[in-house]
Amino acid sequence: MINAEIVLGLPDYQIIEITRKNAEVVITARYTGPLSCAHCGGKLLRSKGGYRRTVRHEDGGLRHCFLRIEARKSLCLECGRQSRQRLIGLLPWQRASEAFQKAIFQQHLDGINRSRLGRREGIGGATVERYFQHGLRRQFTEWHPPRCPTVLGVDEHFFTRRKGYATTFCDLRNHKVYDVVLGLRSFRWKRIS
Ligand SMILES: [Zn+2]
Repeated sequence: MINAEIVLGLPDYQIIEITRKNAEVVITARYTGPLSCAHCGGKLLRSKGGYRRTVRHEDGGLRHCFLRIEARKSLCLECGRQSRQRLIGLLPWQRASEAFQKAIFQQHLDGINRSRLGRREGIGGATVERYFQHGLRRQFTEWHPPRCPTVLGVDEHFFTRRKGYATTFCDLRNHKVYDVVLGLRSFRWKRIS
């Protein structure tokens, strides 16, 4: 029995088959996690058969890896709508797993240019760019939680001769930079409670 979590880095899958052909590895796996309605989260479901979805996944060495997932379609007895099972690690409508998109983001960030990375991974340069932008947005939300810091520190630094000063806002409770804006005290104090 192959441990799917170690091979795929995803929980709740059972590996059925691994095939290797030239430069490609195809892993067929079945979703074994809990089932719920994609619309309302309801658990009272009637099976409407299976569906298959193939996405690009993290490479194993220099071979391109594809993940063929088998999961269920079901009719929800609570809201009456039909849906495909939502899969952990694979966002709906995406042609690649989140792990693959993260790997592309990291490699581009490390300095491998768009066209070279695209050629190496067999995807277009525009796709590399899209995954990279997506990664930046994800990282930004991780660094900037939507909540405003409770204790805010304000500091001004000389930035460049042309652009002048930059004002840094720090979350003093968590010792993190919250935001940086160009300009010198170009804001008005506002009391937020
Ligand atoms: Zn439902």
